[in-house]
Amino acid sequence: MAGIFDFGGRNLVDLYNDVNSRDDVFAYLDHVIANGANLNPAISRETRAELQTIRTQISLLSVTNGTEYVGDLATTPGQHIRRRATLGWPRDAPSKFEVLVNNGHRGRNHPESAALEYWSPFDLLGLFLSKMGGAPNHGTATEANFYLPLAAVYGRFCMWIGLNKRPALTTDGPEDRRQGQGVGDPSSYYQITWDPYSGQFFLGAGLAGYVWPPGRRPGGTGTWKPVVRERRYSLLLGFHNFPGGFTEWTDSPTKRHSRRDTLFGNCAETYAYLEMLGPHYDLAARERMRGIALHRDFAQFPQYTAANIMLYRDSPCMNCKQLLTWAGLTNPRDWHFCPPRQPRR
Ligand SMILES: [Zn+2]
Repeated sequence: MAGIFDFGGRNLVDLYNDVNSRDDVFAYLDHVIANGANLNPAISRETRAELQTIRTQISLLSVTNGTEYVGDLATTPGQHIRRRATLGWPRDAPSKFEVLVNNGHRGRNHPESAALEYWSPFDLLGLFLSKMGGAPNHGTATEANFYLPLAAVYGRFCMWIGLNKRPALTTDGPEDRRQGQGVGDPSSYYQITWDPYSGQFFLGAGLAGYVWPPGRRPGGTGTWKPVVRERRYSLLLGFHNFPGGFTEWTDSPTKRHSRRDTLFGNCAETYAYLEMLGPHYDLAARERMRGIALHRDFAQFPQYTAANIMLYRDSPCMNCKQLLTWAGLTNPRDWHFCPPRQPRR
């Protein structure tokens, strides 16, 4: 499509249309690692070594047989969450698993940003793609020619490496259910936050990729669901005026104003805001950042057309607007510039 940028040596539209399997995704990641020195932008040797580490961590947590995804007798059923069996389960511990994080990774955007913990292949994939950047020809990147198609490519990649629903293919029939090979519904949203001035950006996905059969009998996982959600919430400790605290963690503006059980940390914005709106950027820099969220139903389109994908853009939820306020943004209206998303099909 005319005008849309290449990224990692391939046009974003081709990455959307033609990367059509888990193996295709990893072939692209490997191509980036092998050829990074010659890409636009070029990727340093040091960053390529980090990308190799992240790529390995993604594959261990991905379909179809990543060993950390599949687990063993003590960590079944399979989850796209790095985990270990909890000591004392089931008699003396409420959850079958605990989250086992990778060593912290630093984003590449800012030298003072904190190293963040990762345990999900979708978040690691967002980190990988974000470390390849910023945008090529950074002064000229726009939502239309780079950030929107990149967010869509990222969302499709996530649905290829895991989850229970895959992206659409041109060969699908009208009733195809697009059964994925992994577990858990796809993230509701995929988000990109960027700095129009520098072209730096960060991609994130909503919490996804886990299942939590209840109870302590064989097959059950006890309180695994809140364990995962609380760990993700904890990422936000230290984000400006985020109150933190275990007693607050089951409360949120979205939850108070709707029936949605969305807690802080759930959202696709989590890692992106931590990287792009954290206290390591001054207020003037934070105020120029922009972002869009893309609802997962965009993936019903097997081919990229801006008109179709744009129907699935959405504004930050109430929780994320609160995060923007805590980050000191006096004009968060800039962040919800798009009309309400079309009703779900
Ligand atoms: Zn949100």
